[in-house]
Amino acid sequence: MTLVLGLTGGIASGKSTADAFFRKKGLPIIDSDLIAHQILNVGEAGYLQVIQYFGKKFLNSDQTINRHQLGKVVFSSPEQLAILNKITHPLIFQTIQAKITQNKQAGKQLIIVDAPVLFESGGQKYCDKTLLIAIPEDMQIERLMQRDQLTRQAALNRIKSQMPLAQKIKLADYVVTNTGTIEELEAKLAELLLKLKGEKNGMS
Ligand code: ADP
Repeated sequence: MTLVLGLTGGIASGKSTADAFFRKKGLPIIDSDLIAHQILNVGEAGYLQVIQYFGKKFLNSDQTINRHQLGKVVFSSPEQLAILNKITHPLIFQTIQAKITQNKQAGKQLIIVDAPVLFESGGQKYCDKTLLIAIPEDMQIERLMQRDQLTRQAALNRIKSQMPLAQKIKLADYVVTNTGTIEELEAKLAELLLKLKGEKNGMS
């Protein structure tokens, strides 16, 4: 039996760092941010629908979507963001599901789905279990400022646009805090992998 583990967490909480560890362990990672990007590539289903709704003014001269302009519009209007999500989310889910199926057919026992907005998008229904990487807000601000070269205010704005950590903690099956070193995070994830293996063996 295959287990699909949804991996989520706020911006700069350590999801990519966790992915890197899982990848080292040979686990397949489905990256929903990458998929969200790909469905807006020229000629893809999301591309066509976005242009149909938002208009050709969001095209660059080479016909690619001007993601920066589109981002400006949707991140300043919850209504426009909801419309964009209504277009993109079903396409993202379809692609994730297809990749899950491929991995299952390839005999993979554990599949990681990295989804920053797993809970916000209702994506947990495609996962058997969910893992939240959690860090306190002050540490999140520091790591985000440093990684993306942002001011404190810009970092805070991005954090505040996401679901509050306390709410995510309630929804997650497993919570791993990433307040120590990367090695400490990896040790916790290794422990979780053992636990998941044990639970899976108990189920079968
Ligand atoms: P996310 O993918 O959730 O946005 P990242 O994995 O990119 O977050 O982590 C955010 C930043 O914090 C990166 O620069 C990463 O190298 C750093 N980082 C992650 N975990 C740790 C840690 N335990 N100690 C120090 N820095 C860390």
